[in-house]
Amino acid sequence: MSGTFGNPEVIQEEVDILLIGGGMACCGAAYEIMRWADAAKAESGIDLKIKLVDKAAMDRSGAVAQGLSAINTYIGDTQDPADYARMVSNDLMGITRDDLAYDLGRVVDESVHLFEEWGLPIWKLDENGERHDGSVDMPKLKDGGKPVRSGKWQIMINGESYKWIVAEAAKKALGMDRIQERIFIVKLVNDKNDPKRIAGAVGFSTRDHKVIVYKFKACLLAAGGCVNLFRPRSVGEGQGRAWYPVWNSGSTYSMAAEAGAELTMMENRFVPARFKDGYGPVGAWFLLFKAQAVNANGEVYMVRNKEMLNDYPPYGQAAVPASCLRNHLMLHEMKEGRGPIYMDTVSALAKLRETLSPREVKHLEAEAWEDFLDMCIGQCGVWVGENIEPEKKNSELMPTEPYLLGSHSGCCGIWVSGPEDVGAPTSEDHADAGKIPAHLPSGWNWGYRSMTTVKGLFTAGDGVGASGHKFSSGSHAEGRMCAKSMVKYCIDNKDWKPELDTSADELVAQIYQPVRNFLEHKDYSTAIDVNPNYITPKMLQFRLQKIMDEYVAGVATYYTTNDKMLAVAEEKLGMLKEDAMKMRAKDLHELLRAWENYHRILTAEAHMKHIQFREESRYPGFYYRMDKNFVDEENWKCFVNSVYDKTTHKWTVFKRKHVDIVDKSK
Ligand code: FAD
Repeated sequence: MSGTFGNPEVIQEEVDILLIGGGMACCGAAYEIMRWADAAKAESGIDLKIKLVDKAAMDRSGAVAQGLSAINTYIGDTQDPADYARMVSNDLMGITRDDLAYDLGRVVDESVHLFEEWGLPIWKLDENGERHDGSVDMPKLKDGGKPVRSGKWQIMINGESYKWIVAEAAKKALGMDRIQERIFIVKLVNDKNDPKRIAGAVGFSTRDHKVIVYKFKACLLAAGGCVNLFRPRSVGEGQGRAWYPVWNSGSTYSMAAEAGAELTMMENRFVPARFKDGYGPVGAWFLLFKAQAVNANGEVYMVRNKEMLNDYPPYGQAAVPASCLRNHLMLHEMKEGRGPIYMDTVSALAKLRETLSPREVKHLEAEAWEDFLDMCIGQCGVWVGENIEPEKKNSELMPTEPYLLGSHSGCCGIWVSGPEDVGAPTSEDHADAGKIPAHLPSGWNWGYRSMTTVKGLFTAGDGVGASGHKFSSGSHAEGRMCAKSMVKYCIDNKDWKPELDTSADELVAQIYQPVRNFLEHKDYSTAIDVNPNYITPKMLQFRLQKIMDEYVAGVATYYTTNDKMLAVAEEKLGMLKEDAMKMRAKDLHELLRAWENYHRILTAEAHMKHIQFREESRYPGFYYRMDKNFVDEENWKCFVNSVYDKTTHKWTVFKRKHVDIVDKSK
């Protein structure tokens, strides 16, 4: 029987492994998992049941939806994964897990080789050092082809269809009968007999009136990062425009937290400096066209303010200073009144004209447009609408509102088990850990690579904290690693039967609460959006964004906060969380918006709690605690981790020791 809006059909489904998300990480897992599952079947006769669900359509879901113009992590034959781990660490102000970065560095290229095999055009250099875009037939990377690098770790692609290509391979490998699109997962469910274990999840269809209750042994939660928890710079007619994808709404962090997983470095955020209003990428301009960012007087602020980098050794003194510190220098110019900040496209192209033929220059200008067309079409709209020809007029740059993510240039996320073979700290090394809650592992490896501190719950991409700079290829590779680990976990636990700690009826009632709020009270007032008994998801989102913007170091305060402001935010977020139970859903679209907001609130709370706990400003340029406006290497060069208790709604925040595994003096 099919359901209705007020009375959805309830489907109960049991699988062995559920993949949540259809982005880069889950596509990696989907591609890889069947070969491990098939091998397990051949060996033990166990036929694992696997399913992937995505809130959207995989072809264009997640952060790569619009396409990309570069793959930002490709190590290549001549570089060392240890060097990659060093770069990740420096860019993230010294507090990352070398075991995770190094491990990824040694496998990420395989994902890139697969992309190329599946048809992704990758730019190449010929034997004369001439560049060719992906339309020219050249040897493949794995056969010795030389990529065009826009930076030490980045390679250029014709990437408008990047996600299509990766999703197609994932779908083909997994099979469409194992994939369900337009399913939004709202919460994970713990095991009835073991609260530290995962046993299921519940979600709903965004197209039909259906709620699905899943039971499983293991699950990959890779639902991306969190956007729109801060008031965006683009409001009013520009609303919906953001740099990271608006549909990644903190589901990864909030659902993991509610399931009891340990989070790490949730104080970290990414505030990219991008082309103003369109959020267009700057990487190709800086790296490929060698353009410089200047203040309103045409001064290169990275040179003018160079001395400021010495306040943050060693991170400011590296060949490429940490991303947040580059913002720090830009913000200084803006606060001193020397804005707007510009990307000096005019000088960069003029300089290139000195050495290149007119034909080559024309080609380069086309590449500049293509860089936007590949991954951020909106920026072309700004250029066209504002008569910007980059060879004649410079474009404004602006630091954006903050985003939370673990795969790009940020490192918030979930604490996961690392590889066994890279000398990561063991439980014995951390025997004196003391403040770490007793039920959590103290070493960095507890059995299955990429498993969180909740048994059976795995994560990848934006979900994995304390690493970062994995980008599209790294997220895919992490998903592949999870596939292998999850199959092993299921085989090792073949006799275990999941039992949900909450009944299906209760789960359905919880999910449809916003619908009930609407149906019960809609006739109380004549204007559907004005009602004392409920709040619309849109209005609740405004409230969240205002709190975060004004008290938790958003753009309104030039990314500054202090302990008093955080205390105000804490109180207001607490009330908002309570009021979230009063959100209404007048249709399935609003039901989606309601639960996205709930996920954002929990993520925002974690962010606020971690900033409050870390009594220093570890990421100047991303946020400043003005009451502790310094980097304190002695006391705070450590991980800040937390666990959430879903019954008491309380966070426990604590320090974990940081250890360098890779030698950072090199
Ligand atoms: P995503 O790929 O974002 O996937 C998340 C998935 O989860 C989506 O399918 C989404 O629909 C789904 N989902 C979310 N919530 C739920 C839920 N509750 N239930 C079910 N499904 C859900 N990388 C590069 O290599 N080079 C670049 O140049 C580059 N530039 C970038 C520029 C921008 C503007 C952005 C946004 C990203 C860029 N990246 C780049 C980074 C790269 O896109 C990410 O690192 C990568 O996509 C992260 O993978 P993921 O699987 O963790 O998340």
